[in-house]
Amino acid sequence: MAEGTAQAWDAIVIGSGMGGMTAAAALAKMDHRVLLLEQYKTLGGLTHSFSRDGFSWDVGIHYLGSVAPDDRERGMIDWLAHTPMAFEPMGAVYDTLHMADAPPLALSRPYEAQERDLKDRFPDEGDAIEAWIAALRDARDVMYTMASTRAVPGFARQMIEWWNHRAIDKWCARTTQEVVDSITQNPDLAAAFTAQWGDHGGRPHKASFGMHALICGSYLQSGAWYPVGGGKTFAEHMIPTITEAGGEARAGVRVDRLLVENDKVVGLRTSDGQDFRSDIVISNIGARETVQTLLPDGFGPEAWISEIQALPASIAHFSLFLGFEGDVEEAGATRSNHWVYPTGEVDAIWADAPEGNPPGYFVSFASLKDPSHDPGPRQKHAGEMIAWTDWSSVARWAELPSGARGAEYRAFKQQVEEKMLALFKAKFPDLADLVVFHELSTPLATAAITGHHEGRFYGLDGTPARVLSDALQAKTPIDGLFLSGQDVVSQGIQGALWGGILCAASIDPRVFKQLRG
Ligand SMILES: Cc1cc2nc3c(=O)[nH]c(=O)nc-3n(C[C@H](O)[C@H](O)[C@H](O)COP(=O)(O)OP(=O)(O)OC[C@H]3O[C@@H](n4cnc5c(N)ncnc54)[C@H](O)[C@@H]3O)c2cc1C
Repeated sequence: MAEGTAQAWDAIVIGSGMGGMTAAAALAKMDHRVLLLEQYKTLGGLTHSFSRDGFSWDVGIHYLGSVAPDDRERGMIDWLAHTPMAFEPMGAVYDTLHMADAPPLALSRPYEAQERDLKDRFPDEGDAIEAWIAALRDARDVMYTMASTRAVPGFARQMIEWWNHRAIDKWCARTTQEVVDSITQNPDLAAAFTAQWGDHGGRPHKASFGMHALICGSYLQSGAWYPVGGGKTFAEHMIPTITEAGGEARAGVRVDRLLVENDKVVGLRTSDGQDFRSDIVISNIGARETVQTLLPDGFGPEAWISEIQALPASIAHFSLFLGFEGDVEEAGATRSNHWVYPTGEVDAIWADAPEGNPPGYFVSFASLKDPSHDPGPRQKHAGEMIAWTDWSSVARWAELPSGARGAEYRAFKQQVEEKMLALFKAKFPDLADLVVFHELSTPLATAAITGHHEGRFYGLDGTPARVLSDALQAKTPIDGLFLSGQDVVSQGIQGALWGGILCAASIDPRVFKQLRG
């Protein structure tokens, strides 16, 4: 008998990202014994951190919304964490825009402050700015209503959607660009409105405005925060909740297939041939990845599978991890993130890398946001530069194992890295002098480390079709199979958290009571 077959778990979660940890910890709080399996060597998914040469970086966190002390999401984290987590506010200014040759535009919270920031820069556009801020508030509200429908049965869902159909049509069924176009014809103002689209990966002409408002608006609602100790602290605080209830979390275990008997999911098989059984299997690896890689051939409702497969995936990215030594604040580093668009064009990605230059990039100095960071005598600080791209930039090496991609791939990486470093130096010359370490990661690394289809780390693109889709319920039409994580509600740590919570609540309704407080 394969190892694991003798032991049946109350639930098994595949993938230890924020959504998987949340679903597992919420079920553990209800006394379920949960097995959490992670293919990568480190638990935490995109919340994990890694170190090189005395520097440490998060792979998927620069700032968090909705973790102010009174926020609902913060209440959930407090409930799920075995010992309390701490979050540090980033201050009033959390993002700074650099649009072509215009002076930097500092964006602050809350809504009223950002309205003022924009009016100071665009004094003749008061009405449009007020309309934009009002739209963000309204769309965020309707997205919370939409989120709740991911965990309610079909009839209730239809009632909620019918009751809110005007707001849904107005904010969720239109793209960010369509909403912007209805508010202003000023291209500079439109660019300032949409510049932070990388927070959810949905380009303005593709993304549902609701998704943009949900995620970008979270910082306006209750500020931007950073987890004290970095992203890895999510796993450090949530995994003990799972193990204390008799569960386990295992890293380095890749799930290959779901086990099915009598049209019902009854467990799974790992890539090294072990079987684990449970009547409840939660997939936190992404909706598309679930139907494409875990379902046995020919199994599952065709309509559901094809609806998920028809939803497009989001962007991919290059990350340049930077290590500095010296007085980085004196040299210009801030806790505020930087969004840089050298030509002022916002709705673009670096699809033809390494040709040309990235049309836009994001820069963050995480260690400055973390009060527990000890820079030591050499004043070590970590930063990251991100440029958005497409899988097509690296697709030709996808079938080759890491280490066997040859000189052409090494040259490609070097060119991308040099271009990103040159842009960093042009924008932040004093900081560039303090760089003592740099390392590039490409979408190939993202695909290997996170398992995301084509390195598309935000999962499904946040299009209107995705927001309105009925196929992304936490409880799938397959008996015993549930979805959690960012594809259920939205991208981002808070979106993945909601995905996990709604999944757990679909399995054990007592979790709903916790939501009500
Ligand atoms: C560069 C970058 C910056 C970001 N910045 C922010 C930010 O500042 N703020 C914010 O809120 N969000 C940010 N995000 C987004 C956020 O990190 C994600 O939306 C969120 O973490 C997704 O969580 P998840 O649980 O859905 O998925 P993941 O964290 O991706 O978890 C999925 C897990 O499943 C595992 N897995 C896959 N296949 C298998 C298999 N077959 N068997 C076992 N395990 C498997 C993967 O290894 C992975 O650990 C950023 C993301 C990136 C990449």
